[in-house]
Amino acid sequence: MIQSYSDTALLCEAALREIAARISDEQFLTWFQRVRFSHDGPDRIAVHVPNRFCLTFLKHRFLATIQEALEVVTQLQQPRIEFVVADDHESSVSRGNEFAAGAPAASHNLNSASPRSTRVLDHPDAIPLNPDYTFDQFVTGPSNRLAHAAAIAVAQKPGGSYNPLFIYGAVGLGKTHLIQAVAHTLLDQGMSRLVYISCASFTNDFISALDRNALDGFRARYREADALLIDDVQFLANKERTQEEFFHTFNAIYNLQKQVFLTSDSLPSEISGLGERLVSRFKLGLVAQLAPPALETRVAILIRKGRKLGLEISQDVGEYVAQRVRENVREIEGAVLRLHSLVTIERRPLNIESVRDSLADLLEELPQRIDMAKILQSVLEEFGVQPGELHSRKRNRSVVLPRQVCMYLARQLTGHSLGEIGSYFGDRDHSTVLHSIDKIATAMSSDAHLRVRIQSLEERLKR
Ligand code: ADP
Ligand code: MG
Repeated sequence: MIQSYSDTALLCEAALREIAARISDEQFLTWFQRVRFSHDGPDRIAVHVPNRFCLTFLKHRFLATIQEALEVVTQLQQPRIEFVVADDHESSVSRGNEFAAGAPAASHNLNSASPRSTRVLDHPDAIPLNPDYTFDQFVTGPSNRLAHAAAIAVAQKPGGSYNPLFIYGAVGLGKTHLIQAVAHTLLDQGMSRLVYISCASFTNDFISALDRNALDGFRARYREADALLIDDVQFLANKERTQEEFFHTFNAIYNLQKQVFLTSDSLPSEISGLGERLVSRFKLGLVAQLAPPALETRVAILIRKGRKLGLEISQDVGEYVAQRVRENVREIEGAVLRLHSLVTIERRPLNIESVRDSLADLLEELPQRIDMAKILQSVLEEFGVQPGELHSRKRNRSVVLPRQVCMYLARQLTGHSLGEIGSYFGDRDHSTVLHSIDKIATAMSSDAHLRVRIQSLEERLKR
């Protein structure tokens, strides 16, 4: 009965335990670590949340869970729930202790729109964070290591050395995942004036503010942010007025040494119709690329995402699929879902035969004619080395680089194992091969010239 939980601490503990039992650990840590509950009348429970961002998200994603948990704990039929935002209270209690007993804060009825101006962006278009887009769910490899490390640095020390951080890469390679991982971390650290929004929403917000003659509110909302995270800034292409406004927003935040983090599908200089002064602003800090993951990383992602669905994907099956799903990580996720239904719906075992039968439509045909000889030939031509040299023990760069490129291409384009590739190059063991592949993948993410060279080799071989 409710009386048995009259003590706030007990109510809190019981409610959090019920909620924890209903959601993943990850979600719990992200969203409920700083949530507290207290009685607010005989049939009313106040849910104290750290900020408005969290409020929006909890209402959006976890309302039913909270309700269920509170029903169990209080034994009330549909207890009334009121959310209380710590931030909205003027004499906001000191950080880390926001939920100290007796801190009455402005309360928001579930259904009433927020009447207050908010410090956290609580725009109708604001995208709620995906609880899965956190750092610990992000699989790293040579193709994304720099971008990942930079994002972590920004999350740990916003406004530090990587300001702005500009991450670019093709669709489905993890830009949104990384920017949201930073948002999660900053929120967890208690940052309240965080703005995370897609560039399209920023644009819409600006246009509607113009229409309504409400630019002051718009500017206050963005320019007072402690961190400004904007996804997909290529959307600024050819939008002069929005660019102008964005330029001033950027300067306001940057000059206060607050963090700016931007993502885009291309380099600043390659966004068409982006004014020169924005291009140079975007390049002030660190520009890092997310490149398509190499085979080893794709296998690791498959195995990780499979495990999340309770699926044990063996290394062989992982390699078989990853060799044939190459475009981006979103496709890899699609493949994992198919593997999952293969096991749970078709009730088949997970092995190469079953995967080959069932996923044929999804899996790219491996180019048949590519063998080691062909790879070797094209690399020899491209780098101008002699055939014998690649198999020799020579270690000068003019030989090492093409040898490593051969190994990289063999791994990408043939079904050979690391050991097989190693034996082809004079008995090198699989860790040496792995190291070589890693080196090339890393070099490709920082050296655009080499990247283009290898990609065009790859294209030619596949023809
Ligand atoms: P983008 O914004 O670059 O188009 P997303 O961030 O939306 O790509 O990523 C597409 C999907 O792939 C998401 O579900 C994301 O979680 C996943 N993903 C991308 N890169 C990785 C990675 N390195 N590790 C784990 N998941 C990833
Ligand atoms: Mg995205």
